[in-house]
Amino acid sequence: MRTTPLRLLAAAAVAAGLLPLTAGAAEAAPPAKPAGYAGSCPAAGTITQGWHSGHDGVDIANNRGTPIYSAGPGTVIVSGPASGYGQWIRIRHDDGTVTEYGHMYERLVSVNQRVSSGQLIARMGSEGQSTGPHLHFEAHSSTSSTRGMDPGPYLSARGVGLPCTPGGGTPGTNFTTWGTSVRVRADARLNAAVVRTLSGPTPVHVDCQKRGDLVEAEGYKNDAWSHIPALGGYVSNIYIDHPDAWLPGVRTC
Ligand SMILES: [Zn+2]
Repeated sequence: MRTTPLRLLAAAAVAAGLLPLTAGAAEAAPPAKPAGYAGSCPAAGTITQGWHSGHDGVDIANNRGTPIYSAGPGTVIVSGPASGYGQWIRIRHDDGTVTEYGHMYERLVSVNQRVSSGQLIARMGSEGQSTGPHLHFEAHSSTSSTRGMDPGPYLSARGVGLPCTPGGGTPGTNFTTWGTSVRVRADARLNAAVVRTLSGPTPVHVDCQKRGDLVEAEGYKNDAWSHIPALGGYVSNIYIDHPDAWLPGVRTC
């Protein structure tokens, strides 16, 4: 379906003298595919049930409260109660596919909210028809799909192998923030948008750090900022609970 209009466009361009005839080689190009996206691990845990004819997704089991992350960038299209699931979230990604999350005890996103890949969206629970805390994760080809595809190949095509480790599998280190009303900004600048505010000490996974605006607070001065993918932004290293201004073992962004 996609190739026909492209061919017509190319033919029209050649006819108009906009393209040399050799550009007809574009005819041999494969049909345009959705671009996909850079995936993130939806949750750490044990795969307790895979995808099969009687199970439309994959089950990832872990402790109640385990963070659940968006598998990719997109828009929340469903967030609320659901029979069977107890609660569910659906995210429409930028490549047109949809991921679905079920059984969580806490939802942290609402309909129409934009989320980044790896953003914290919920915490694992055992709501609905469930025998223990786990994430039921589905992947759909579009919003009109009624049958989930196998999440294994879907995620691996986007760089995530199951079971997975949140943080995108990239090197990183876990820290805890300190202080109250700590702002997470879209970039390492004081005039960058605030994407989150941390009310108190928060466990965070830092995947990289970089130099940005000099921050003076709490008796410290520091121009280093930590990138926290799950929160979609940067925190001044002043608020990372570590004595060093530049965190050891964390790469430069
Ligand atoms: Zn399931």
